[in-house]
Amino acid sequence: MEEYKTWFGVPRKEIKWYPRIDPAKCIGCGLCTQVCGRGVYSYDFADRKSVVIKPYNCLVGCLTCSNLCPAGAIDFPDPGVARDAARKFGIFKVVRERLKEHFEEFLEKTEKYRENVGKD
Ligand code: SF4
Ligand code: SF4
Repeated sequence: MEEYKTWFGVPRKEIKWYPRIDPAKCIGCGLCTQVCGRGVYSYDFADRKSVVIKPYNCLVGCLTCSNLCPAGAIDFPDPGVARDAARKFGIFKVVRERLKEHFEEFLEKTEKYRENVGKD
């Protein structure tokens, strides 16, 4: 999918952040295919195991599938890889620009939140 080709403007393939399944550990539950909303996984019904088909669709820094895998079969690089990429590619500048761009929106949401704290 086109929208996943970059991360804060950086070509996604520059950042080596993606899952790897250890087939010896995978019990074929299929959960990873359902919790990932980015189409990283498919399911091989012949082998009864999940497969990584679009590694670079993975959201940099996300670990959801790995955290939920009941067999501990999904590995990722050290989280330092994602943090280093954020620094190396200067994404904080982009973040600041986006915050400025959405200033009013954030202001309104935060004020609403503060008004309603403890009411629900
Ligand atoms: S969640 Fe883990 S055990 Fe289940 S299919 Fe995915 S890799 Fe295999
Ligand atoms: S870490 Fe997140 S985005 Fe990456 S494959 Fe797992 S669930 Fe999908």
